[in-house]
Amino acid sequence: MSPSGTQLATALRRADGVARRAMAMGRHPFGALLLAPDHETVLAEQGNIDTVNHAEATLARHAADNYPASYLAHCTLVTTFEPCAMCAGTIYWAHIGRVVYGAEESALLALTGNHPENPTLSLPCREVFARGQKPIEVIGPVAEVAEEMLATHRGFWERRGPRE
Ligand SMILES: [Zn+2]
Repeated sequence: MSPSGTQLATALRRADGVARRAMAMGRHPFGALLLAPDHETVLAEQGNIDTVNHAEATLARHAADNYPASYLAHCTLVTTFEPCAMCAGTIYWAHIGRVVYGAEESALLALTGNHPENPTLSLPCREVFARGQKPIEVIGPVAEVAEEMLATHRGFWERRGPRE
């Protein structure tokens, strides 16, 4: 069974808290967490590290290192923004069964513009998963919290400046 609306909002707000912690450490404000099959227990949290260690891919590798694929198939990776192609691929290979994201990549691009630190790789995660050999459920964007996810980024990219 899929997570309820309340469970989605609760998890996404917690992921946004992870994103804000990452930002406080000087990193890009993206956050993700791994939900157990009960949709409430948080197994792990991960903020953005750098451009090749995004929150979702790092979390997916950690998940695959610590839990069997048969268990992860019933788990959910929750992330503040739609995962990029690199992260979607790692989620696929980690055998995580469901992805929830708060806001769309395109909404972030509209906010950041073509920022040199965020050269968006525009390939919807649903398209990546559709090329695979097993179903991965995708839920997102979640309208109830999408604006909160975007609010975390408002002003961040302008403050970074073009050459930082
Ligand atoms: Zn990514």
